[in-house]
Amino acid sequence: MIDLYKLRNLDECKVEAVYKTSPNDKSFKTIRELATFQFTCRKCDNAPCINACPADALEKDKNGVVVRAVNLCIRCKSCITICPFGTMMDDLFQVKTSDYIYMNLSDDSELEKFAAAYPDDIVTIVDMDEDPGKNIYKLNDKILVKEHIWE
Ligand code: SF4
Ligand code: SF4
Repeated sequence: MIDLYKLRNLDECKVEAVYKTSPNDKSFKTIRELATFQFTCRKCDNAPCINACPADALEKDKNGVVVRAVNLCIRCKSCITICPFGTMMDDLFQVKTSDYIYMNLSDDSELEKFAAAYPDDIVTIVDMDEDPGKNIYKLNDKILVKEHIWE
């Protein structure tokens, strides 16, 4: 489980979790990006972020969740700047320096190492289901996030 409240207040951690969204997907997305668009984003009807993207890299999926095409994104940050709700964190789409470590959470063996890399119980290994009463939601089969969601 990833506590996005605490993660936002963390000064820096050079370990980033990535995930393949489907077996056919050749790219990895960071967990923070997936969780931000799924839970924090307000899913605007005429989404300013999509309209502002000069590279046509953003679209909504069938559930109305914004998805970024990593191969098209030129990391101009126009979407981050124009979002009226400050949904996206400033470093979300940055190209990270080579001292960053990426952990593939599609791989079970990386889960415990990833949890250990974060301080203050930001990432914990749990055996539970989502619990909306405690702001805990399921991102996918392996990952829960703790977040205030927009409804
Ligand atoms: S503008 Fe912000 S809140 Fe609206 S859809 Fe885009 S990311 Fe979500
Ligand atoms: S950062 Fe990427 S997704 Fe956002 S507006 Fe620029 S090209 Fe589009």
